[in-house]
Amino acid sequence: MERTFETSRKPTRVHHVAIVVRDMENALGTYRDRLGLPLDVLLPIESDGVRIAFLPIGESNIELVEPTDPSTGVARFLETRGEGFHHVCLEVDDVAAELDRLAADGVELIDTAPRRGAEGPVAFIHPRSCNGVLVELIEAPGGPAWRALGYDTGGIEPSTPA
Ligand code: ZN
Repeated sequence: MERTFETSRKPTRVHHVAIVVRDMENALGTYRDRLGLPLDVLLPIESDGVRIAFLPIGESNIELVEPTDPSTGVARFLETRGEGFHHVCLEVDDVAAELDRLAADGVELIDTAPRRGAEGPVAFIHPRSCNGVLVELIEAPGGPAWRALGYDTGGIEPSTPA
């Protein structure tokens, strides 16, 4: 069966690649100080039990994730598999619409609706549906979930009003 996708439904860039680290200062010593990436953001995400850093490179970022609460999934990931690649995040225009499309296509979702992430509305797709890779979707600034989830959009209006 031939299928068509609207251009706006395609992911537009790799927003970030996330790496789980045991010690944030040690990891910044590598990624910022030795590799030379600038540190844009370093902040705790209390609700997820992690501390994260964003280091921009080109149109993407490296995200460093340090578990601060041993009961979280990320902490268990670190204990089981050690430090390393955790997930890739793709930017889309409308996370909720993309989730609907993927669910209808039989893709196994971890989040069935957008939720608040540090950098915008996000949702995760199960690695079982992505060849063993945990995939995160993030909504481009000004998308419909920004307002719905209470982000301060700073006057940015959706490019395609619903
Ligand atoms: Zn992420």
